[in-house]
Amino acid sequence: MDYLVRSIDRDRNFRIFAAVTTGVAETARVRHDTWPVATAALGRVLTGALLLGANLKGQDMITVRVMGDGPLGAIVVSANAGGEVRGYVQEPHVDLPRKVEGKLPVGEAVGRGTLSVTRDLGLKEPFTGSVEIVTGEIAQDLTHYLVTSEQVPSAVSLGVLLNSGGGVRASGGFWLEILPGAGEKVLSALEENVGNLPPVSSMVDSGATPEDIAGMVAGRFQIGILGRTPATFKCTCYREKVEDLLISLGEEEMGKLVEAGDGAEVRCQFCGEKYFFIGEDLGRLLKKTVPKPGGQLC
Ligand SMILES: [Zn+2]
Repeated sequence: MDYLVRSIDRDRNFRIFAAVTTGVAETARVRHDTWPVATAALGRVLTGALLLGANLKGQDMITVRVMGDGPLGAIVVSANAGGEVRGYVQEPHVDLPRKVEGKLPVGEAVGRGTLSVTRDLGLKEPFTGSVEIVTGEIAQDLTHYLVTSEQVPSAVSLGVLLNSGGGVRASGGFWLEILPGAGEKVLSALEENVGNLPPVSSMVDSGATPEDIAGMVAGRFQIGILGRTPATFKCTCYREKVEDLLISLGEEEMGKLVEAGDGAEVRCQFCGEKYFFIGEDLGRLLKKTVPKPGGQLC
């Protein structure tokens, strides 16, 4: 089962958020029919959004947008406090030759551009911070974002391992957040730990839990678990919401759809869910539309 843990060391020098997201990444792959490099890129962003959203509460939301100029196009992911995450990659069918054996060219597929993070914290105005994409490998870019835009000294690691058929075999990640007042000795010890770790997808592949991952990042420092949250790929779309969208097309557009007599299929961009409307449904929705301003007045 996928979940996320929040942990802190005994001396309150750092926090570690760690997640296993194999199911989340695989669900996203199936829903969007992504090819390997897109599967890896989307899986990393989904995991990154979950980690950055580890401290969300109530109705809080976090949205990560990776707007690169590479063949994948935009990658947009949002997560909530309940560990529900959804997202898509603009071009799921991208295939690039591997330059390094076994390593998917995610950075090349993402390209350069901007990475932005929007924190929507209940009643407050949403806050968005952006940075230039540094490598396109996602983890380094999120680290760069945390350090420069949010001034939080951090190390982020993300990994998605695929099986030979292209399915997700293991996916996970961690975010090490250094708290104010942490001394140089602690920092250099953590740096050494993180530098010597195997890739996080290998840890997950060999059965490591989020607690195990956090423990390996912490090394000789003792940590306590602050909480666990299940992680699931779950969208916020539902049929009534799609109906409202159709109604908002207005009388003229909806009238054309009804006249065409083919019904309608609406696909949610975030999760790939398809909503079908037969002519009868559309006729009912047409009655709820309002004529566009500037149309016939009398
Ligand atoms: Zn959806």
